[in-house]
Order: sequence, then C-alpha cells, then structure tokens
Amino acid sequence: MPVNRGIAILGGTFDPVHIGHLSLAEAVRGALSLNQVRLIPSFSPPHRSPPEASAADRLAMLRLAAEGREGIVVDDREMIRRGRSFTVDTLRSIRQEVAPDLPIYFIVGMDAYRTIDQWYEWQTIIELAHIVVLERPGHDVSLPSQVLKWTRQRLRQPGDPGIGPGGAVLLLDLGKIDVSATEIRACFHRGGQPAKSLPAPVMQYIQCHGLYQSTGKKES
Ligand code: ATP
Repeated sequence: MPVNRGIAILGGTFDPVHIGHLSLAEAVRGALSLNQVRLIPSFSPPHRSPPEASAADRLAMLRLAAEGREGIVVDDREMIRRGRSFTVDTLRSIRQEVAPDLPIYFIVGMDAYRTIDQWYEWQTIIELAHIVVLERPGHDVSLPSQVLKWTRQRLRQPGDPGIGPGGAVLLLDLGKIDVSATEIRACFHRGGQPAKSLPAPVMQYIQCHGLYQSTGKKES
C-alpha cells in the first residue's frame, strides 16, 4: 500500500520500452512505497545517437506498455516540448507543478549514473530530485571520482526520516535485470524475435509497424 507522497520518474529513450523498464519502475514503486512512477520518453536525447524509432512510435509503445499497470503513467512533456530533451528542464517543469516539499525520485541505471557529471546542469538536477541508482548487468560499478565523492556525501537510505524533496542519492538493490534496448534492436536487425524481452502489445506494435527491420539502421 503506497504511503510515500513522492513521485518517481524514469526518463529514457524507450527505443523500445522493454520488460526491464517496467520491472524496475514497478520495483522502485514498491521499494519506496510510491503512488506513481512516471515514464518520460525523451524526444531528442542529448547524450547519445538519435533513436531508431520515431518519437511517435516510441510514445505509442510506451503507452501500450503502461496500460493497466497500476501507478505507472506516461508523461509526454518532452515530446510536447520537442527540441533537445534536457533532464533539468523536465525536472524544473515537474517541480513547478507539485508541492515544493514533495520528494521527486529520478531513477537511473548505473550506466547512466556513471556519466551524470556530464549532463547539462547536473548540479541543479541533483538538487531538484533524489537520484535513485539501480544496478545493471554488465555495467562497471566503479564510479568516476567526482561522482563517487558526491555520492558518498549524499548517500541516504529509503525511508530516512531526514530526507527532503531532493538532493539525496539512493542505491537500490532490486536484483539485476539483464535486458537492454540495444540488444533488442540488434536481435531484430539479425532477423530475431526478442518476444521474451518485450511486453506482448509492444511486440505486436513493432511487427504491425515494421520497426527495427533487419534492413534498417544497424547498431554502431
Ligand atoms: P539502450 O540500450 O538503447 O541504451 P536502455 O535499455 O538503456 O536502452 P533507456 O530507455 O535508454 O533503455 O533507459 C532508460 C533508463 O532506464 C536509463 O537510466 C537506463 O540506465 C535504465 N535502464 C534500462 N534498462 C535497465 C535495466 N535492465 N536495469 C537497470 N536500469 C535500466
């Protein structure tokens, strides 16, 4: 039963959304006793190569994946805003809509967290929200020195009574989920059908719309 007033945010390219995203969103919701986890697809991710599927397809797949999942909602503000999707802009706009003391938990996999000090206005990001870091198979847990120093200073436990609306780092051990969109796209490109890694309606959408074809763009 959710008791924490805060909301969690999982931003990503979702190219495509996969069972790893959904399991970790639901696991964080449970671990932090939250009412809501928002999935926010990036229109134009600033830190990586452009997505293979269109923004409209990625959003449609995300909506299908979230349908019927309690407490999991899709927030399309980066799609509406267009332009480069800076996390700091998204967190600012959410912060303006909620109570100033409402905890916001920004979820990132360890792969993304390792480079957080390269994100646009990262010092502001870590004040606007708590950062929830999840382990990820195949990603080195050693952190660059600046991120490590900052992590040590800010590390808190979930449920810490002193925790405010933002500014802490929570390392959650939710069990590693060995799925990635890169591997899923590569499997399609090879002519495979990675059905086990995808929610069934997303698999159907990909087939109906001919996404990630073997003749399409290859992984770099
Ligand atoms: P790609 O392989 O294309 O980089 P991805 O599977 O990492 O895609 P994204 O949409 O880029 O998916 O991920 C959004 C967020 O979810 C990132 O913070 C990423 O680290 C995290 N994430 C995705 N899959 C997992 C996973 N299996 N375990 C932990 N975190 C994950």
